[in-house]
Amino acid sequence: AYDVLIVGGGPAGAAAAIYAARKGIRTGVVAERFGGQVLDTLAIENFVSVKETEGPQFATALEQHVRAYDVDIMNMQRAEALVPGDGMIEVKLANGGVLKGKTVILSTGARWREVNVPGEREYRNHGVAYCPHCDGPLFKGKRVSVIGGGNSGVEAAIDLAGIVSHVTLLEFAAELKADAVLVRKLKSLPNVTIVTSAQTTEITGDGKKVNGISYKERASGEVRHVELEGVFVQIGLVPNTEWLKGTVALSKHGEIEIDAKGQTSIPGVFAAGDVTTVPYKQIVIAVGEGSKAALSAFDHLIRSSAP
Ligand code: FAD
Repeated sequence: AYDVLIVGGGPAGAAAAIYAARKGIRTGVVAERFGGQVLDTLAIENFVSVKETEGPQFATALEQHVRAYDVDIMNMQRAEALVPGDGMIEVKLANGGVLKGKTVILSTGARWREVNVPGEREYRNHGVAYCPHCDGPLFKGKRVSVIGGGNSGVEAAIDLAGIVSHVTLLEFAAELKADAVLVRKLKSLPNVTIVTSAQTTEITGDGKKVNGISYKERASGEVRHVELEGVFVQIGLVPNTEWLKGTVALSKHGEIEIDAKGQTSIPGVFAAGDVTTVPYKQIVIAVGEGSKAALSAFDHLIRSSAP
């Protein structure tokens, strides 16, 4: 059995593994895809102290750093259930195996909800983006669209309007669903066009990068095309917690609820990174949260009566 068993091998899980192993305790990481979302990222320019790097390169560096310690990495293994017990917590794997930990850190991350229109996959990282904090500056002075008129879409549009030349916000429903204060702010901006009742039908490109977006006006059925260089998809971030339903407490958005120490509703079970209620989903934040969860798990171990 492990002293600390970490589920998820993204930035949060990797940081947790390093912090746990440095305490000299038995540490294991089980991950479906070691590296996590970073593997799907092109340029990373906001990991403080690293001016510029690329996702796969960052993922390799994460793995090398973890492998410098005595950590069992169990890659390409999917966790399917968490079974809390007296003093020992079990994690059941899809391959039938069962792992045990005196403490468990959940860091299974999240995934962006896709609009599922032609061009989205093809031009991902070539004009199609999901994270305004990450990729906004790449579109400085250019024209972009934001798909989604909820809080994240409207926040993204306000953020981008300060960087890009023009923002077209497309919302499927008849009204924006964001908080009134955000909508007021958005409407006050001179370089933003808001289109409601608009169904995105295609992200167009020249074979290399995005050159426009098409949408259907739902009232008239007419299809319109807007020329632009970037599309930010902001229709939700889905936490990877389907396998945890009914065990650990989740927020209404499906995120694992944690306190300031990363403790979940189950004693001995901690969580970190994009999978939790922590605001702002970023690598540097996930790394900090993973480290914190490992220190909290260590604190739990030295305070528990189990030998
Ligand atoms: P993740 O990176 O999502 O890792 C989750 C881990 O859990 C993975 O190893 C996954 O395989 C594993 N896992 C999931 N479910 C299971 C399961 N059931 N069993 C076992 N393992 C499981 N952030 C920045 O700071 N800067 C950027 O420039 C930036 N660009 C981005 C670009 C793109 C295209 C994307 C998608 C994200 C970007 N982000 C960026 C966000 C950043 O990648 C995330 O905030 C960060 O990766 C979160 O780390 P995490 O460890 O919490 O989760």
